[in-house]
Amino acid sequence: MNFGLSSEQQQLRAEIIAFAQSELNNRVRDRDHASEFDADAWRRCAKQGLMGLRMPQALGGGGKDTVTTVIALEALGYGCRDNGLTLAIPGQMWSIQEPLLAFGDSEQKKRFMPGLCDGSTPGAHAMTEPDNGSDAFACATTARREGDDYRLDGHKTMIGLAPVCGVALVFASTRPEHGQWGLSAFMVEAGTAGMHCQPASEKMGLRTAPLGDIVFRDCLVPAANRLGPEGAGQAIFNHSMDWERSFIFACHLGAMQAQLEAATQYASRRRQFGHAVADFQSVSNRLADMRLRLETCRLLLYKAAWLKDQGQAIPMHAALTKLHLGESLLASSLDAMRIHGGRGFMSEFEVERSVRDNAGGVIYSGTSDIQRQLIAKLLPVEQR
Ligand SMILES: Cc1cc2nc3c(=O)[nH]c(=O)nc-3n(C[C@H](O)[C@H](O)[C@H](O)COP(=O)(O)OP(=O)(O)OC[C@H]3O[C@@H](n4cnc5c(N)ncnc54)[C@H](O)[C@@H]3O)c2cc1C
Repeated sequence: MNFGLSSEQQQLRAEIIAFAQSELNNRVRDRDHASEFDADAWRRCAKQGLMGLRMPQALGGGGKDTVTTVIALEALGYGCRDNGLTLAIPGQMWSIQEPLLAFGDSEQKKRFMPGLCDGSTPGAHAMTEPDNGSDAFACATTARREGDDYRLDGHKTMIGLAPVCGVALVFASTRPEHGQWGLSAFMVEAGTAGMHCQPASEKMGLRTAPLGDIVFRDCLVPAANRLGPEGAGQAIFNHSMDWERSFIFACHLGAMQAQLEAATQYASRRRQFGHAVADFQSVSNRLADMRLRLETCRLLLYKAAWLKDQGQAIPMHAALTKLHLGESLLASSLDAMRIHGGRGFMSEFEVERSVRDNAGGVIYSGTSDIQRQLIAKLLPVEQR
């Protein structure tokens, strides 16, 4: 087993950190207060090749393996302080590009993948509805076949990138009487008549990432936009969650490293009772816990990437990774806040933003409760 980086990976890492530090941190605090997405930064990341890293070169991607992609995203998260941007980019990569690559026909891949890779058509993944969340397959949106089209009716909510999307991967029921087996998936282009995208109301964190609702009313979508066969929606959703739960936090791993470095420096500089506060064991214990979380998160994430490069579906490992990284991010952000004392609470110092941004990680892509449930359900399968 080799945990070292190749010289190519080291170079890619260094290039991305330099790019992120110089190009992506413009007015982050102001944009957080104004809930403003940086569309220019999105395009610059695409131009840098980040969105297409793992996609085939013939479709506009970079043709990298999963381990290299994760290393690149970690570097992006280390250099970029816009946590909304570093959630939105992997969100599109894992939950739209991967299912398109696995289930799209060659025509669909040629139509949609280049625009996803070059940033011109941001992609949204639309499953959640007002009455389905954790119980994702209890989906009320319907898609009824009418000749060469499907008529979509329904309401999707809390959808990443919805207000700015160029295309949405939408899950809808083509046979409601078959429950979860009757779900199908559609690539729906923004601007299609009957598709209405709206921004969400104000949110606690991740304010620089657009989130919103998509409402379908008599929305005619060509049958040529259906991904996979009718009834494949459940398999397509599970496939996208295998990727998303494994790697949605790849950028956050880099941010955790930067957070630990900042907290360590602050604790060494800040003096109370004639000592650096890092000399007090209550403070150094927190730094040690943050370091341990960083290490265990990295091991889980890199192993997931390695497993994916072996061509495996990894539902157990994906759930373990999502659960541990989501909880660790929040715990370490709270530790960083405590280490900074009162300054950790003040918006001026930006430590509080990581707490608000990382609180979402225990909810999206399936809550921590749901990941625990999945892990427990898969234990007997694993022991077979
Ligand atoms: C920042 C953000 C981005 C998001 N992006 C997207 C997106 O791009 N696309 C998309 O489709 N959705 C997205 N979502 C929605 C997200 O997937 C759901 O919020 C999440 O799955 C939880 O669903 P819910 O909010 O309906 O909560 P509920 O399912 O109503 O859960 C409420 C509470 O009950 C618990 N609970 C529910 N069922 C069980 C159970 N069986 N066992 C134990 N506990 C249970 C939950 O853990 C939670 O604590 C996003 C959400 C957020 C916050």
